[in-house]
Amino acid sequence: MGAAPAPANIRTWSQSVTATPWAKPSGQRKYRRRLVIGLAIVCVALGLAVSAWPEEGQPGLRQNRSQDPSSFGWVRAGAMVPFSWQGNNFGEVAAGTERLWTAMLDELVPAIPGGLTNELGCYQNRRNANNPGVWSFHSYGLACDINYGDNPNGAAGYGRSGLHVIPGEVATDIAAKYCMLWGGDFRGVTDPMHFEIHVTPAQISVWLAGAGAAAAAGPGG
Ligand SMILES: [Zn+2]
Repeated sequence: MGAAPAPANIRTWSQSVTATPWAKPSGQRKYRRRLVIGLAIVCVALGLAVSAWPEEGQPGLRQNRSQDPSSFGWVRAGAMVPFSWQGNNFGEVAAGTERLWTAMLDELVPAIPGGLTNELGCYQNRRNANNPGVWSFHSYGLACDINYGDNPNGAAGYGRSGLHVIPGEVATDIAAKYCMLWGGDFRGVTDPMHFEIHVTPAQISVWLAGAGAAAAAGPGG
């Protein structure tokens, strides 16, 4: 665009700074118009990208994509509390997350053939087994492993079946509802035993005051 007058401007620009003062403002206007159009395109593209993320869960919950929980309000090896679901011992989880785990398990466990085994675990202060450069969500008390013997690290998230196997289609939907990520969906090494929380402490509080109030009053207590 604007190609036609360019040769004249280019030819005269160096000499026209003094000779033809109108040449420079003209070039600036063109540049400004391109900048505005370019910025508009970037804004639209960003808007589309953001709206394409399936990150909304139950009211109050919004998925944070960061792989570093300290960037969204959590403390590694911080305050932990014992957690159990219907008498099944999960060890410890980050204080404040118990009812989110309860609500998720209330939906997930009935969909697992045979339910839970005693192979369960959450808080563990260690690095990510599949990516040792980063701390595991387990080290924040924000990840739980469920029926780990039947859903081992590296096993496929989808297409497996059997006693104590976590069904992929159900797991991914329930995880999304609570703004968790399910390890069966991980790119690279899949880890179908693994669920991790991607919301802030403040979002859990909002959720508990609304949708979570009913969910958390369920049989898991
Ligand atoms: Zn795990």
